Amino acid sequence: VARSLTRIGALALVACTALSSASAFGLAGPASAASKSESGSESKGGVKNVIYLLGDGMGRTHVTAGRQRFYGANGHLHMEQLPVLGQVSTYAVDKGTDTPSLVPDSAATATAWSTGVKTYNNAVGVDSRENSVVNLFEQAKANGMRTGNVSTAEVTDATPAAEFSHALLRGCQGPVFSAAACLPAGESAPADKTLVTPIAEQIASNNDADVVFGGGLARFEPADEQKMRSNGYQVLGSFGDPAVGTDNGQQTAATQRVATRDDLGTIEGGKVIGLFNRGNLTVETAKAAAPAASPVKAEPTLAELTQKSISLLDQGKKRDKGFLLQVEGALIDKRSHANDAGQTLGEIKAFDDAVKVAMDFAAKDGHTLVVVTADHECAGFNIIEKGSITNAEAGNYPGTGNVDSGNTANNSAPSRPGSQKKDPTRSSGIQNGAGLTGPNPVGNFAPATFRTVDDPPSVVDGSPEASLWLTYLSGNHTGADVPVFAGGAGSSALAGSIDNTDLFTVVHNALRL
Ligand SMILES: [Zn+2]
Repeated sequence: VARSLTRIGALALVACTALSSASAFGLAGPASAASKSESGSESKGGVKNVIYLLGDGMGRTHVTAGRQRFYGANGHLHMEQLPVLGQVSTYAVDKGTDTPSLVPDSAATATAWSTGVKTYNNAVGVDSRENSVVNLFEQAKANGMRTGNVSTAEVTDATPAAEFSHALLRGCQGPVFSAAACLPAGESAPADKTLVTPIAEQIASNNDADVVFGGGLARFEPADEQKMRSNGYQVLGSFGDPAVGTDNGQQTAATQRVATRDDLGTIEGGKVIGLFNRGNLTVETAKAAAPAASPVKAEPTLAELTQKSISLLDQGKKRDKGFLLQVEGALIDKRSHANDAGQTLGEIKAFDDAVKVAMDFAAKDGHTLVVVTADHECAGFNIIEKGSITNAEAGNYPGTGNVDSGNTANNSAPSRPGSQKKDPTRSSGIQNGAGLTGPNPVGNFAPATFRTVDDPPSVVDGSPEASLWLTYLSGNHTGADVPVFAGGAGSSALAGSIDNTDLFTVVHNALRL
């Protein structure tokens, strides 16, 4: 009952908010669905395009910390200005079953929203019983739409991969097949050979995305470039030297050429693949710190890639059919695994800048659903009081523990002896504490501290005076819900508490697939 009441309350609230914000935005309003059913055909008021953006590993607190850092406690990230807000459960299931597995990975979660099916961690585009399941890109292509897939990770990594490939194991990225990477231990090869075909090879062959931008050049080979060119793709940079071998995984930085921002500028239309790093793209804080001559300076930002993708997808004759664009800010997750709060914050900002590009387009276009969410939370990111410490840093359990002096019936065992004091100097600078090394492990995993726009100008990052104290619980994903922000026709279905498979349903219905 509590859940239903909460949901109804949330819907009422959203309805009020949506009326003002959606019109300010120029996003298609709720009337669109009605006009579609009246006319029985594609309505001009309905959704034509979907831009689906996700911050990998971006939990609720990542959003809050990004807001405080860059826009202040009373400010808003761009994503927070979208009119509809919900929260998304992210759990996976155990392999071969429907039993919930509470902490998911990116493969299971990306499969959930791209196919509507819960699956096991490591699975890309297959269900819990290893059957291939159709994804949104395949459905969009079958409906004559254009599709685009953009990521700051390798484009063969799980999140982008689930929109345009099917694999029993996410590690089967390429460039070559290996049983260890592609075939689950103790299993024989499946009848559907696609499921053990390297993801790079699938992308090169299946034409599921018109625009592919990201990292991961080392996953591809000259044979993939030839295949893509014969399928009509423009290939930025070079996948390697055919003389080195076409199927041996021996291409190197010397034989391959990564795509650059300048290459991006030469493309005016048509299908294109651009891989701007042999691995993941470079985090923005590292790019900013690199010398002017560094090749990483030639890597476009996620906002630039998003802008270019939209301009390529929204043009020409097929424009009327609409497009589906997925944009991933992947390094929020990867830098959270590394417990690097400074880089994590920078990647949240870079992702939010890409969200702004999508929102600006949607406001102008009027027929675009914008969805901004995450796949799962990463590392138990949190904001702690200035000068306070975490359990991970404590020599003893904190405080007096589980004692309720006002009502001893609430006391629980074990009690927690010992006490911990606040230590305003506990900041470990702009880097979080390094872990269990050195002679005295107490004080490890200490918070990294950052100034916010609310701090006086004299306060610097890494100082105890900086107001934003950030800690991590672990180096792994957690089972926490993630936020979803949305605007445009059909977006109200994302309000309240939903599951990640509902994200599939909403996009699927919005595009009438
Ligand atoms: Zn992760």
